[in-house]
Amino acid sequence: MEQVAKKDIRALSKEQLRDFFVSEGDKAFRGNQVYEWLWQKGAHSFDDMTNISKETRKMLEDNFVINHIRVDKMQRSSDGTIKNAVRLHDGLIVESVLIPTSTRTTACVSSQVGCSLDCKFCATSRLKRMRNLNPDEIYDQVIAIDRESRLYHNRPLSNIVFMGMGEPLMNYNNVLKAIDKITSEEGLGMSPKRITVSTSGVPKMIKKMADDEVKFKLAVSLHSAIDEVRTEIMPFNEHFPLKDLKEALAYWYDKTKNKITYEYVVWDGINDQQKDINALVKFCKDVPSKVNLIEYNPIDDGQFQQASNKAIDRYVDSLEQNGITVTVRRSRGKDIDAACGQLANKE
Ligand code: SAH
Repeated sequence: MEQVAKKDIRALSKEQLRDFFVSEGDKAFRGNQVYEWLWQKGAHSFDDMTNISKETRKMLEDNFVINHIRVDKMQRSSDGTIKNAVRLHDGLIVESVLIPTSTRTTACVSSQVGCSLDCKFCATSRLKRMRNLNPDEIYDQVIAIDRESRLYHNRPLSNIVFMGMGEPLMNYNNVLKAIDKITSEEGLGMSPKRITVSTSGVPKMIKKMADDEVKFKLAVSLHSAIDEVRTEIMPFNEHFPLKDLKEALAYWYDKTKNKITYEYVVWDGINDQQKDINALVKFCKDVPSKVNLIEYNPIDDGQFQQASNKAIDRYVDSLEQNGITVTVRRSRGKDIDAACGQLANKE
């Protein structure tokens, strides 16, 4: 007999699930129950659904699969950071990270397997992009980290950043669907203000997000406000130059009134001069924004090296003198390769 590929049940909306049960001669309400199992209770198999009859579970089993992610390996850092290697239904692997501080626990999640961009300082860029994650694969990462947060830190997840593998704006629809689920009462009910999408800066998509009136926060990985320098370290900048990026960000602010956070690493001999600082100050003044100076996490033999503390201090002083908010972020989870830019499925 020919094998018909079973459908992924979580690709169905609640309405579709209700319709399915009606078409099977059951009650639409059964759809709600199953939906709750799938999304709120995170069921991995139909047998988990204990308030559903055995026959119905068997019928579901015959028609559908649940393509749940599986945490293949969990590593815990001495600083409390946790990294999950997550296996997808087709065997590919992505990584996600839980970052605890005294006041919050943040999930750093992936949006793609690998990445199509080519930032020279990022380990993920070496994997190339293999595919986009589905909304449920993004959602599952969050649920897994929420569970670990409750288990190891005795509190639920408080924030989410899309700063794992991949470029979220190149998988925009699925990222948006995942965020819808995360923020809905049928998912985690988390406020969108606690979610940050980080992009290397795709102007067209930033404008689209503004048009879509999204409520989450936006971070942009800037690293240089000088085109030649940025193109050198982030070659796609050649196609999305700073002028276009700035125009899109102005559009974003105009529509959302949400400040932008620029992520910025200062490297020795690359962007540690006064001219680099001046360019950043000027860039920041054009659209309301703040700067997050992040520590460099080495990924190899040393084309890139974190600039001296003196250079960082010069950045901080200049930004502050110009009334721009600046924070300096220390790396977390370095001992397990869980820090920014280190996610590369080493094992
Ligand atoms: N593609 C998105 C999100 C993934 S990267 C983006 O570019 O924003 C998340 C953050 O880590 C970005 O700010 C990125 O520039 C930074 N990053 C990448 N490699 C890094 C490294 N080796 N050390 C420190 N930060 C790094």
